[in-house]
Amino acid sequence: MLFKELNIITAIQKALEDEGYQQPTPIQAQAIEPLLAGSDLIGCAQTGTGKTAAYAIPILQGINNTQAYDHTIKALVLAPTRELAIQINESFKSYGKYLTVKSIVIYGGVSQGSQTRALAKRVDVLVATPGRLLDLINQKFVDLSHIRYFVLDEADQMLDMGMIQDVKKIIGYIPQVRQTMLFSATMPSAIEKLSETILNKPIKVAVTPVSSTVDTIKQELYYVNQNKKINLLADLLKNPLLASVLVFSRTKHGADKIVKALKAEGYPSVAIHGNKSQNARQAALNDFKNKRIRILVATDIAARGLDIDELSHVILYDLPEVPEIYVHRIGRTGRAGLSGTAISFCDQDEKGLLKEIQRLIKQNINVIENHPYPITDAPSPAKSKRGGPQRPREFTNTPKPKAKSNHGSYDQTRSARPKAKPVSIENDNWTGNTFAGSKVIGGDYQHSDRRFDKPKADNEKNQHWKKDSGSKRSSSQYR
Ligand code: AMP
Repeated sequence: MLFKELNIITAIQKALEDEGYQQPTPIQAQAIEPLLAGSDLIGCAQTGTGKTAAYAIPILQGINNTQAYDHTIKALVLAPTRELAIQINESFKSYGKYLTVKSIVIYGGVSQGSQTRALAKRVDVLVATPGRLLDLINQKFVDLSHIRYFVLDEADQMLDMGMIQDVKKIIGYIPQVRQTMLFSATMPSAIEKLSETILNKPIKVAVTPVSSTVDTIKQELYYVNQNKKINLLADLLKNPLLASVLVFSRTKHGADKIVKALKAEGYPSVAIHGNKSQNARQAALNDFKNKRIRILVATDIAARGLDIDELSHVILYDLPEVPEIYVHRIGRTGRAGLSGTAISFCDQDEKGLLKEIQRLIKQNINVIENHPYPITDAPSPAKSKRGGPQRPREFTNTPKPKAKSNHGSYDQTRSARPKAKPVSIENDNWTGNTFAGSKVIGGDYQHSDRRFDKPKADNEKNQHWKKDSGSKRSSSQYR
C-alpha cells in the first residue's frame, strides 16, 4: 500500500517523502482512512509502530482542510512524559511542514513563561502532559472549548503514573462533540472503562508492535552477580560495536550509581530520570541522539516512548519487575526496521523475573555463558523485603580475571551459539483478549504485523515500511 492510496493531501505526502517513509505502517494503513472520515479510534499500539503519524496525519489534514486559522486550539494530544510530548510535537511539525497548521508542546518541570507566551499566540495543535496542562487551565492560560480532535497517547502509562484523574478533569474541559483517539500498549480494565466513556463507536485497531519491532532485535542474557554487573558492563563497553548504548536501571539512585561507576572505569555517561531537571534530561537526550554521548543510563519513566534513531544496544542492567516492561525496554533498539541488540543482566535474585519475561515472549533468551563474571552461588548477605537476597549497596571494582576479559572471546561465543529465535508476541495481554469481541478494521488485528510477511532470516529487508536508507533524513536533522 502507498500513502497516496489513503487520500492524504499532497503537501503531507511530500513531507512523508522527506522523512523517508516509503509505505504506511500497519497501524497507519488501518487507521488513517477511518480517521480522515471522522471515526473515533481505539488503538492497541505503542511507540515504534508509527502510531504518531497514524493520528497526526488525519488531524493535520482535517485542520488544514477547514482553513480556520483563528485563535482557537483545535486539537489536544495528551502524553504521559515530557520526552514523548516533545517527540509528538516534532512529528506534527515534520508531517505538517508544508502546511500552516501550528503546534506547540507544554510540559512540567520547566518554568511556564515561554509556554504561556506561546499559548498567547495562535495554536492549532496543543501537545501536553496532563499535570502542566491542568495547571495552565486553572490559571486560565488555556481554553479547550474549541477542541475538535482529542488524542490520549500511551493511556496505560498514564494510568501507571497516576495521571488518570488529571486526564478525566481535562476531558471535562473539552467539548463532547469531538473526534477522540486513544492509544495504549496494553488494555488494563481501567483504560477499557475510560475508553467506553470517552469514545463514540470507535473503530478498533491493534498491531503487535512488540513482535514487529522485536523481530529485528538480537537478545542476549548474561547471568551475573549483582555486584559484578558494573564490571561486566565496563567489559562489554570495550567493544566499539556498542556504538550507542541505552542502559536501563530500575531506580534513579541506581542510575546515578552506574554513571559514577562507569566514570571510574573510564566510560563517560549521562543519566536521565525523574529527579533530573527537564532541561538536563532534554540536553542529555539530544546529546545521545546526536551521538555526542555514547552511553545513556535511564529509568523506565524517562525512557519509555523514546524514539532514538540508530540505537545499537539496550542493556537491561536490572530486569524489570513487570515482564511487559522488558518488551518496552528492548523496543528502544531495532526501531523502524533497523537491527539492534538487547543485553540483559540477570542476578540469582532475578531468575523469577526472567522466567516471567521468557513466558511472555514465548522464548528463552540466548544465554552468553563464557564471560568473566559468571554467577556464583555464594549466599548474599541479607534478605530483602521480597524475600530474596538483598542487592549489594555498592559496586565493587574488583579486578577482572585476566584470561577471559578479552571481549573477542564473547564474540566467538556468540557466533558459536545458535542464533536467538525471533520473538513473536501473540500473548493475550497484547492482542487477542485485549479487544475480545470487538469489531476490527481489516479483520486481521491480532496478527497485523504479519503483513510484513518476512522470512525470519531477513527481517530487515522485509520491513516494507522501514525508512528509506537513502533518505536525507538523519536524527540530528530533525530532532
Ligand atoms: P512512532 O510509533 O510514531 O513513535 O514511530 C516510530 C518510528 O517510526 C519513528 O521514528 C517514525 O519516524 C518512524 N515511522 C513512522 N511511520 C513510518 C513509515 N511509514 N515508514 C517508516 N518509518 C516510519
